[in-house]
Amino acid sequence: MNRKNDCVFCRVINGDEQAYVVYDDVNVIAFLDRYPIAPGHTLIVTKEHYRDFLAIPSDSLAHLSNITKKVATAVQAAMSADGIRIFTNVGKSAGQVIFHVHIHVLPAWEHEPVFSSFRKRMNITHDYAINISEAIKEEILNLS
Ligand SMILES: [Zn+2]
Repeated sequence: MNRKNDCVFCRVINGDEQAYVVYDDVNVIAFLDRYPIAPGHTLIVTKEHYRDFLAIPSDSLAHLSNITKKVATAVQAAMSADGIRIFTNVGKSAGQVIFHVHIHVLPAWEHEPVFSSFRKRMNITHDYAINISEAIKEEILNLS
């Protein structure tokens, strides 16, 4: 597989960087965003290093979409969210910061509608991240 040492997501995939993983298969991995916009903010990442969504070959896209649906369903259940935003940024001007394709899954609640992407990002504690990632993992198992 094509992976890069200077890419933080490739380092997560290689096990050289810690992450709260909620899903892992041969081609795709999902883990909590380290600086979440909202609690439960999760990223779905291809194991192959592609710069952005537009660079993914079509035959890899179907699997990524299916896993995104699964993870989003689990995040919504685990976080008791009323809604979910699913999005990806392509290019610096669109807000892409890490140039390895990742799909954002961002829960939303009626009482706290759509967190702005420009909102100050949170720092999560280890215990908090463990609780959330375990809850999401359990929901994924329920779906399987
Ligand atoms: Zn990478």
